[in-house]
Amino acid sequence: MKTIDDFNFSGKKVLIRVDFNVPLNDKFEITDDTRIRAALPSIQKVISSGGSAILMSHLGRPKDAYDLKFSLKHIVPHLSELVGEKVKFADDCIGEKTLQIAKNLKPGEVLLLENLRFHKEEKEGDEKFASELAKLGDIYINDAFGTAHRAHASTTIVAKFFPEEKAFGYLIEKELTSMDKVIHNPERPFTAIMGGAKVSDKILLIENLLEKVDNLIIGGGMTYTFIKAQGGETGNSIVEEDKLQLALDLIKKAKEKDVNLIIPVDNIIADKFDNDANTQITSTDTIPDGWMGLDIGPKTIVDLKEIIQNSKTILWNGPMGVFEMSSFQTGTKSIAEAIAEATSKGAFSLIGGGDSVAAINKYQLKDKVSYVSTGGGAMLEYMEGKELPGIKAIRE
Ligand code: AMP
Repeated sequence: MKTIDDFNFSGKKVLIRVDFNVPLNDKFEITDDTRIRAALPSIQKVISSGGSAILMSHLGRPKDAYDLKFSLKHIVPHLSELVGEKVKFADDCIGEKTLQIAKNLKPGEVLLLENLRFHKEEKEGDEKFASELAKLGDIYINDAFGTAHRAHASTTIVAKFFPEEKAFGYLIEKELTSMDKVIHNPERPFTAIMGGAKVSDKILLIENLLEKVDNLIIGGGMTYTFIKAQGGETGNSIVEEDKLQLALDLIKKAKEKDVNLIIPVDNIIADKFDNDANTQITSTDTIPDGWMGLDIGPKTIVDLKEIIQNSKTILWNGPMGVFEMSSFQTGTKSIAEAIAEATSKGAFSLIGGGDSVAAINKYQLKDKVSYVSTGGGAMLEYMEGKELPGIKAIRE
């Protein structure tokens, strides 16, 4: 399999699937350009070695037709600034006019195509549509990790038309290296920290991790499904009643696999879901009616810190509490800090999943952990052990 470094891009048209699905405000200004920056190394590689880059992406969820709100033309000025030259724009991702613009590109030039999802064929994985995209380039690079779990035309099907001339971009390469290191080759002790609202979203991941980790820490809202399953009093905390048996099965599986499963022993409870609620510290299994657990407690924090700081590989997915509210952020912040500290002592730490990434950014620890994944859903599926269509299409 070729890597992006194996190609001679000189004089070539390089079709790159990027993930420019960035948030825009009412004035169509980009409010977070992380995803654009993440694609820059691959774009720079192509143009600095004499190729022209043809960038394709989706933006938002248009209803299969043109919608100004989701036009990628809003991205052009900022992208031009980041690339350091004026980026050209094609107002359709396929068609004769676009093909001509692509053909006329000079070495070092960058063309951005209009939103792929203005055509319903993109999400349908339509082969004819993929072949139209393929006509634009000599080489196909996939660098859109965030959509690698979708078998869409531009992420998967298009690769068929480049049997040899295809590779991952640097971003996907980095994502895969980081995830493989954690899941296939972890230095031990290996600790996974799972938080967030619900256990139901993460069942497959937890099951797969129980085969691999030494310590599995449960936190956040999913704690209470485990506590209630074991007969604890959870008051008004979020509990998934239909997942109580599952929680017991996971506890049993952890025992069988000799995994140290850590469920919080104490927590901060509140009398309403509000930053200004009255709060108390209690054990997680004695929460009175009318109160709900919204963060892990001080004793739990001490226990978790010790485990994290003694780990050599750490995977974190999901906050320990309602960290968006300052009254319930201490647990999440302490865990983020402990991960940063373990990393400074040589541990490899991988952070993934929307809200833990938001937390790491909020506490400005992004540069103090080993890798922050850019793909929420794609990362979860890869770590669950699934083969992602966008990854398979390049590898096979
Ligand atoms: P997820 O998307 O499943 O990772 O869930 C993230 C969300 O879980 C965040 O918005 C948190 O506010 C929320 N969360 C974390 N802990 C709790 C809790 N104890 N009760 C309710 N929501 C929680």
